[in-house]
Amino acid sequence: MCGGTQLERALTCVDHYATGEMFHLCRCTGCGFLFTQDFPAEAEIGRYYETPEYISHSDTKHGLINRVYHYARRYMLRRKARLVMSEAHRKEGRLLDIGTGTGYFPATMKALRWQVEALEKSAVARDFARTHFNLDVKPETALTDYAPGSFDVITLWHVMEHLEHLNETWETLHSLLADKGVLVIAVPNPSSYDARKYGAYWAAYDVPRHLWHFTPDTMQRMGAKHGFILSARHPMPLDAFYISMLTERYMHRRGAFARGLMTGALAWFSTLVKKERSSSMIYVFRKKQL
Ligand SMILES: [Zn+2]
Repeated sequence: MCGGTQLERALTCVDHYATGEMFHLCRCTGCGFLFTQDFPAEAEIGRYYETPEYISHSDTKHGLINRVYHYARRYMLRRKARLVMSEAHRKEGRLLDIGTGTGYFPATMKALRWQVEALEKSAVARDFARTHFNLDVKPETALTDYAPGSFDVITLWHVMEHLEHLNETWETLHSLLADKGVLVIAVPNPSSYDARKYGAYWAAYDVPRHLWHFTPDTMQRMGAKHGFILSARHPMPLDAFYISMLTERYMHRRGAFARGLMTGALAWFSTLVKKERSSSMIYVFRKKQL
């Protein structure tokens, strides 16, 4: 992020989800930016997503934890829609959702009469969105096809941490956003209550699929580097429940569901006191006016 070359090793994490391989997380001593060291190149990372349960792509409802995920999603969709309209100061407008997965969020916004464009890398997920929501979701390569200033709102819900070409993407987002537009980015928070409790086991490190691990501080710096001002931060305390249950499962503990529920509750209380402890955070950026 800052171009510094002094790195320290922060954690060593295991890919519990797909391969069991180990990856180191490194931190820049200059700016504090945390990232997955030596993550697989874009051409090779596909196999790390390939399990039948990759929930964002397949919409599986198998198992108790996945059912909790689906229940929480219904609540979150309504909350996200409200947050976008309130931050954008608009009831309708032009929205671009990047990394849309199976298309639930753009479908929600379309039903509220927004003009939506949605991009998704997975062909399976694009087909799902077409079949279930009649949404014409485009591959992620379409990002560069839009004219500058095309959107009032651009959203990336748990997507930024997956993008290999980070600085280039931020530049493109700055160009595509209208001058008064808002950029809404949700990412896991490695300085959250649950991240601190679980250390390297914390499921939201999700190596090597998560390349970057933004804290509230480094996210603000990243935006500033690319001409944005951070205008709001919102906690997503419900994520702590899902992430904690998943973490407990990865740790092979008895009663993963109950333990996860307990940690999720403690994390939720902690977030009431200090929102920067939330398991995931939503960051709202506006363009710095020249
Ligand atoms: Zn740095």
